[in-house]
Amino acid sequence: MPAKPPEKPDNSNRKLGGRRGRKPAAAEERKDRVVQARVPEDLETTLKEAAEKRRMSVSHLIRNVLEDTFTLVDHIVADSSALVGQVSRDARRVAASVRGEGDPKKASAEELLESVDAWQDVVVNKACLCVECNKELKRGQRAYRGLSALQAKDMPPVWLCPDCLEQL
Ligand SMILES: [Zn+2]
Repeated sequence: MPAKPPEKPDNSNRKLGGRRGRKPAAAEERKDRVVQARVPEDLETTLKEAAEKRRMSVSHLIRNVLEDTFTLVDHIVADSSALVGQVSRDARRVAASVRGEGDPKKASAEELLESVDAWQDVVVNKACLCVECNKELKRGQRAYRGLSALQAKDMPPVWLCPDCLEQL
């Protein structure tokens, strides 16, 4: 019996199996590959039954399952990593406010410097820290205190040591 294997029916059958609810990729763009996997007998039975119920080939069923699974996994991974980032940012913020810290030091130092309108040459009475180099300014030493319109609000006083003032 030298008949060619009937390819047409097989193809149309696969089409019928349908990729329901999916945007089909352009036929020529889709380059299908065959992937083989060994499965236990009962899994094979289950797959066959499930495929039959959906009136698609086992191959198509597996393909759909794999596509759905990996899309799903991708989304979950993406979402949870974004979530982890957000949660750890929130946790750091909460921890910082529990410790009585505000924003990270560098940023707030810049903010403080930004807010200063003028530097007043004064003598330190209460020990404080230079906003720039963090050096301690001791009682009796010369230092510069930032004058700013925001001073009265929740801005802490801004101090600058003479060295840092020269580098302004
Ligand atoms: Zn300094």
